[in-house]
Order: sequence, then structure tokens, then C-alpha cells
Amino acid sequence: MEREGRAKTLELAKRVQQLPPYLFVGISRAIAEKRAKGIDVISFGIGDPDIPTPDVVLDALEKGAHKPANHRYPESEGLPEFRKAVCDFYQRRFGVKLDPATEAINLIGAKEGIGHAALCFIDTGDVAIVPDPAYPVYATGTMFAGGTSHLVSLHEKNGFLMDFRDIPTDVARKAKILWLNYPNNPTGAVADLRFFDEAVRFCKEFDLYLLHDACYTEVTFDGYVAPSALQAKGARDLTIEFYSLSKTANMTGWRVGAAVGNAAMVNALMRVKSNLDSGQAQAIQEMGIAALNLPQKWIDSNNAIYKRRRDRVVSGLRDIGLDAVAPRAGLYIWTKAPPGYTSGDFAKLLLDERDIVVTPGRGYGPAGEGYVRLSLTTPDDRIEQGLKRLKGWKIPPPPTR
Ligand SMILES: *Cc1c(COP(=O)(O)O)cnc(C)c1O
Repeated sequence: MEREGRAKTLELAKRVQQLPPYLFVGISRAIAEKRAKGIDVISFGIGDPDIPTPDVVLDALEKGAHKPANHRYPESEGLPEFRKAVCDFYQRRFGVKLDPATEAINLIGAKEGIGHAALCFIDTGDVAIVPDPAYPVYATGTMFAGGTSHLVSLHEKNGFLMDFRDIPTDVARKAKILWLNYPNNPTGAVADLRFFDEAVRFCKEFDLYLLHDACYTEVTFDGYVAPSALQAKGARDLTIEFYSLSKTANMTGWRVGAAVGNAAMVNALMRVKSNLDSGQAQAIQEMGIAALNLPQKWIDSNNAIYKRRRDRVVSGLRDIGLDAVAPRAGLYIWTKAPPGYTSGDFAKLLLDERDIVVTPGRGYGPAGEGYVRLSLTTPDDRIEQGLKRLKGWKIPPPPTR
């Protein structure tokens, strides 16, 4: 009887309905169509290292797999040995002293921690200050938690550093968190310690938590050394930093990262995680320990591969008239589309005419419009083939609308 009265239709939650299409879906489809026709498409799209995970890291998995203790549930916060390895790394690399018991936890990749962090700091109706363009997870996590993102455009004239004066005072007062990411994806921008000092001062003034995505601190070139936000004065009072081994050690497939910093913030994330996941496989955490202990020499030689690619791609882009600039960190070339082209138009033109895939900057937010991103995680020989396709190419006049 009761059943008859109901006029309910099956409906997905708004947070799922509101999700923008995943950035690479459209591109993947276009590539698939071309490849189905037998066309050889060269992709500078997704940032996903093509170089293998180093052997010492793989050996740790093999050893770890045979330990019965690793066959049982891990703890959400990660192995004490993993947490200690993270803290030792932070001490060695940044001079930041952390307590492994309270100020560091394991993550199932940084993305997992970045997404879940919103649940720790954002209630329904709360505001997160999010850079634009940016890695999409900061805004998506905020939306999942019921909050809204106030986007702050990053400008080329400021070296794509956030200018805190662009944030209206009423927004800063209302906001709960500030997201930053340096070295930056997608712009390739880098920040010095003074910038993080300023960010911490801004956060203190307006009672904001600072959340810093530090996935690219070790992927640097030309002698540049990236700071941790935790080195900034007073950062420990309000900062959590997300670290990843994905890009540093060619480990995207293994899913291992860490969250470090303010003990209350780290503890909140641990409590959220312990209600949603049971942590990363311990044998994989042991890979993480090996990766955290890779000698600087290994990291330097890995970065040298990207530096070579960076220089080749920048010069190839300049040859066809684009004003590409070599970034000092990260895995991406962020360059303006030719005048009159939107980022989508230009990405489509490259695919149609040159069978080359790049990512339209618009996918990283409204301020990404007018730019495209080329990833350097394409094997050397494919990069050379791609550059050959560009050589001598006359970019046609922009579409008229
Ligand atoms: C790749 C990337 C991540 C994800 O790192 P994982 O540890 O693989 O989850 C996070 N933030 C940015 C900016 C990235 O480019």
C-alpha cells in the first residue's frame, strides 16, 4: 500500500551529478577514434612518468610480499617505519623536524589525502580558497564536503604566484582553508620561502588552515631547490603538506604518499581515513621507505632526463612561434595558445593536423583558458617524433566566430 503512494525516481546524489567530466575523458575519446583509424597519435597529455620504478624500490616490494605481517590489515596512519622515513627525509631535505608519532601519516597517494582533507576542515557552506588554474582535486574535494571554492587567478606577470591582495577581505574572513601548490602543476611556477612566509602570515591574519600540495619538490632543474611550506615561520601552527613519491620516484602506479605538519590537522586526516580506508598495503609502504631513501644522485639523473626533454620541447615550440618558457620544476610546459585560439581550439588543431595530444588549459580552471599544457612524461623517441611533426608547421589563422 505504502509503495503505491511513492513517486520517487532513482537519483544520484547532487555531488555526483555536479561533477565536471574528468579532464582527460574528451581527449581519451579523440585519441581512441584516431587510433581506431590506424593513426599514430603522440600524447603529451597526462602527467604519468614513463620511466620505470627503480629496482631498489621494486626489491622492497618483493621482500615485503613474503612477510606474513604484511598480509594483514595495515593501520590507516601507516607503518611506524614509513612515518619515520618520511620525517627523516623532511629533516634531511628541508631541515624540518617532525614527530613520526603525531606529525606524519601515510597516504594511498597524495590525491587520496588531498581529496579527504576537505572532510577535515570544510562543513556545509564553508569556503576554500583555491588557485586557478589548479589540479582539480582541491575544488572537487571541497564540493564533496559541501563547501564552495573561491578561485584566485594566477597570473603570468606574477610568475603564477598567488597574490593574496586579490582575495577580497570578506572572502578571506569567511574562508576556512587556503590551497597552494608549488612547484606548480600545470604552470611550472616555483615559489621561494618568502612566498610561504607571506602565505602563513595571510593565513594567521584570517584564521585559515594552509594546505600545501608538495608533489613536485624533488622534480627540479638547473640547480633550483624547492622549499617545503613547513619551513616558513609559524607554518607548523596551521599547515598540512602533501608529499608524493609518484613523480619523484616514478611510482604513480603504486600509490604512496604522505601528509605531514600540524599534529591536530594530521590527526584529523588520520581519523577521517580510519573511517574510510584501512591504509596502504604495508609491502607498498616498504617500497615508499626505499623511495624516500633514494640517493640524491639517482634523483638528479632522473631529473636530467626530464630536463633534456624540457629543453627539446621548449625549443620545438619556439620554432613554431609559441612563446614557451622552460620551467625550473615539474613535468610540464605551460604555454600560450597562438593569438585568437582558445585552449580547446588549439588542442584540437594539434590533434587534427599534427596527431599530437596536449591538454587544454581550460581544464584546470577558467584562468587556464588561452594556455595548453604539454607533459614531459613521454618517452624520448616519441618526443622526437612529435617535434618532427611540428617542424616547419605553419599555424593556420585562428577560427573566426
Ligand atoms: C600528480 C599529482 C598529484 C597526485 O599524486 P599521487 O601521489 O599520485 O596521488 C597531486 N597533486 C598534483 C599537483 C599532481 O600533479
